[in-house]
Amino acid sequence: MQVRDDRGRKLGSALYSSASQIAVRLVSKEEVSEAALPEVIGQRINAAVQFRQQSVRDSDSYRVIFSESDLLSGLIVDKYNDVLSMQVLTQAWDRDDLRDIVLASLAEHFPDASLAERVDPHIRELEQLPARESQILRVPHSSRPLSAREWDKTIFTMNDVRFHFDGLAGQKTGAFLDQRENYAAAARYAHGRALDVFTYQGGFALHLARVCDAVTGVDSSRAALEVAEQNEQLNRDQHHSGEIEWIEANAFDLLKDYATAGREYDTIVLDPPAFAKTRRAVATALRGYKELNLRALKMLPPGGILVSCSCSFHVNEGEFLAMLGSAAADAGRRVRILEKRGAAIDHPVLLNVPETAYLKCIICRLLT
Ligand code: SAH
Repeated sequence: MQVRDDRGRKLGSALYSSASQIAVRLVSKEEVSEAALPEVIGQRINAAVQFRQQSVRDSDSYRVIFSESDLLSGLIVDKYNDVLSMQVLTQAWDRDDLRDIVLASLAEHFPDASLAERVDPHIRELEQLPARESQILRVPHSSRPLSAREWDKTIFTMNDVRFHFDGLAGQKTGAFLDQRENYAAAARYAHGRALDVFTYQGGFALHLARVCDAVTGVDSSRAALEVAEQNEQLNRDQHHSGEIEWIEANAFDLLKDYATAGREYDTIVLDPPAFAKTRRAVATALRGYKELNLRALKMLPPGGILVSCSCSFHVNEGEFLAMLGSAAADAGRRVRILEKRGAAIDHPVLLNVPETAYLKCIICRLLT
């Protein structure tokens, strides 16, 4: 649809949702007719794919299409080795004609990959779309249909570390591809005994095991830790020095107990879920972040490494650093920032769309 401001001036063309809080999502500042839409979308997908193929060199897995960042607001496609996982977040991308363009374009770019659609029932409800099941939409042309392979499952690799992927399994699966480059960065500084808090399926822990003596991965989800353990097995043949243990626990309780007991770690990673889902939740979120970081800082000796992450868009980098500074002051530690990082390059930031710059990953070293 065409969009005009209140004085009737043309603003451009947008995809419309009758149900969303965001009614219009701009496609172009130019006028794009319905007839021209497929071509524009096809070009955007080509550009998105080309950008990843040029910029992602350390993995067979990356976000192929990232919504606003690729000027394809509401559409997400991830590639896990030979499985593509698509998520539709708005009414527009549920339209048959637009889906057809996306499917055809992905098939052309990735002929050897299968394509699964991951459905979040809550999002479909919000967008007032009819319920739909997660499903396989396409298998590669070359494959025989009766092959025993399950088309939503695969093994993928980030920085030479291998992971299981199960496209349609119950809870959110797949990996946090946005942390891919941060795993490698953390491993450049990590040493000694390492603690990976909020480990999920072992993303940081498995990378740290290559350079640390011993790694402990903590998560409250048993299902996630079961996959973490399977991922550990997958990497068994690789030479790594560190033993890994997985602990099912509430991170807040565990850090409190460990800090009180005077435990020490040389490297600690904190990668909690988004604590602030809304602007109003920021104050509470910052208290949560501070508690975690304070306890972690107390457990690190001089020379120790803290990798502290936040994926809450509503907590910006400035606020996050101020929280970290206040935790360091309370812990009586002097802390040097080694790197201020964001999401991997396949989750690009679009200037003037601050929501695309949601991930913070601060790597620091304790001086005292
Ligand atoms: N670091 C992970 C991603 C973490 S996602 C990676 O790189 O892949 C956040 C994780 O925090 C989820 O696995 C979730 O199960 C876990 N989690 C949420 N609340 C928790 C809590 N209170 N204690 C421990 N784990 C928690």
